[in-house]
Amino acid sequence: MIPTASQKWLALICMRCPRCCDGSIYAHGMTMNERCPVCNMRFEREPGYFMGALYISYALAIVVLLLFMWLGTLILPDVDLGWIVLICAACFVPFVPVVTRYARVIWIHFDRWAWPSRPEDGD
Ligand SMILES: [Zn+2]
Repeated sequence: MIPTASQKWLALICMRCPRCCDGSIYAHGMTMNERCPVCNMRFEREPGYFMGALYISYALAIVVLLLFMWLGTLILPDVDLGWIVLICAACFVPFVPVVTRYARVIWIHFDRWAWPSRPEDGD
């Protein structure tokens, strides 16, 4: 069964496999499953595969930090912007694991959409 576009978006949000939309990409915390527990698709196609996720992580971090800064300037209008930047950077630290996880999930989904399974993937 081929998943629909809405199922794939839901799988991305829920950090599920891009192929079956059911198997979890992460086992627990920051530990990824090597393969999908449902359809056995390998998540890390090759060494250095997640370098692409760094670009996505950077973009996500910028979006979150800009959102924090916007909220900071609304909540603290009389405070110097330099202080707001420092406060926002400190407030962003707890979100780093979530951003990292979603960056990898988005990368896997994008990669499998742009370059579907190849014979050398072994899945
Ligand atoms: Zn799967």
